[in-house]
Amino acid sequence: RLRNLSVPLFLQSLGTPVAVTGFVRSPVSLSYPRGVAAWPRTPPLATTPANAEGESGLFADVDSAFNGEDTVSPLVASISPSKTIEVHALTQEMKARGERVVSLCVGEPDFKPPPAVISATATAAQEGATKYTGVTGSLDLRQAICDDLSRRKNLAYTPGDIVVANGAKQAVYEGVLAVVRPGDEVVIPAPYWPSYPEIVKLAGGTPVIVETTVEEGFLLTAEKLRGVLTDRTRMLIFCNPSNPTGAVHSKQQCEELAAVLSEEGGKGDGVWVMADEIYERITYDTPHAAFASLPGMYERTMTVNGFSKSHAMTGYRLGYIAGPPVIVKAIATIQGQLTSCASSISQAAGLAALRVRDDEMQHSFDVMREKRDFVLKCLSKTPGVKTAVPQGAFYVLPDVSAHFGKEAPDGTVIGGATDLCRYLLRAHRVALVTGESFGFPRGIRISYAASLEEINEALGQFEECLSSLK
Ligand code: PMP
Repeated sequence: RLRNLSVPLFLQSLGTPVAVTGFVRSPVSLSYPRGVAAWPRTPPLATTPANAEGESGLFADVDSAFNGEDTVSPLVASISPSKTIEVHALTQEMKARGERVVSLCVGEPDFKPPPAVISATATAAQEGATKYTGVTGSLDLRQAICDDLSRRKNLAYTPGDIVVANGAKQAVYEGVLAVVRPGDEVVIPAPYWPSYPEIVKLAGGTPVIVETTVEEGFLLTAEKLRGVLTDRTRMLIFCNPSNPTGAVHSKQQCEELAAVLSEEGGKGDGVWVMADEIYERITYDTPHAAFASLPGMYERTMTVNGFSKSHAMTGYRLGYIAGPPVIVKAIATIQGQLTSCASSISQAAGLAALRVRDDEMQHSFDVMREKRDFVLKCLSKTPGVKTAVPQGAFYVLPDVSAHFGKEAPDGTVIGGATDLCRYLLRAHRVALVTGESFGFPRGIRISYAASLEEINEALGQFEECLSSLK
């Protein structure tokens, strides 16, 4: 008798003890969910809504639509639905009134996927690649991922060490679910991608935020890392290059962090590293070092990557995770009960993407560098902003706190980054994301995945806006 195990797994993930009887035993032999039956009725979670890029609201203070904690499960009650967020709604309203708004908010590349990807997509659909693949992805794609990781990152994986997921976000989530037990601490350097703390909380873990500053170039130092490790630390989430700062840790800086993990990692159950390397192809002067390639790190690292940023394939929802067999097996078990496989058509397109020569891709990244340089030039002329030079991705996160407490010409008081974003949109028709979404209330995030004209116009207005504050 076959039995669908999705429901038991889902119930378990909500903290409901599940007794599985009959022919099938629970396939989940992970050490979670230890003690989940004691999950509080109203968990102390404070999540913020996400947009399609998985990033919390442009404004962090949107109310949760769920108040009926007695009706819905504690897990649902603890998270906010994705809903139109304030600045987005305002932007739409303004556009509907025929006003021009320039937005530097998006977290996706402004270039197109390579032509080979588009034609592989059509061919896959026409020629019958329309069925489920195995849960972990097609063998062809997993082999191509291994070849790519070996060639470019000097990492030795076999197809059995890879799970292809519906986007890198899902890969991160499954990796966290596979090892984080309720109460475990997960170290997240700030400023962070907003989904990390939410994912950790959904897994029942406790995010431990370690702050970095613009003066430090938003780099996590060995000393800071050592300072937050405890015997409850289960994981470090390490986004390199970083969204939202564009910071890239050099090989040496990564090695210093790795040394701390090797020394201190023995404290509790050992510290896993979730290496989110989705921006690794978009780097400027500091070359990217794969964390799993560092001494002693292969066994404890889960490498996440995908096709959204490198190949502008955000809508394909294709990413992957590579790691030690025990973890990959656990992740495959989780994915098998959640979504099965990633889209077969997207997988065929992903295979084509990995066959595109590096030099064909390079042009898009060179254009990004030009845009980065242009943004830095504009910001250097803008009063009261402190900026670290981004070495990767397509974001810059200036510290604008020098303007907090000032007054705009119309009498608006700029109390913080969120107020500044609101005012910028209302008075200067420029949409940017408040740093509060990223655990950095001193700043605002600018995405330069836009045309040079848009960047020029937006940053011209930004300068005018900040110069007008008294
Ligand atoms: N990690 C980071 C740091 C990101 O910025 C994003 C996309 N915003 C993702 C993961 C998720 O990427 P995907 O589209 O592959 O789910």
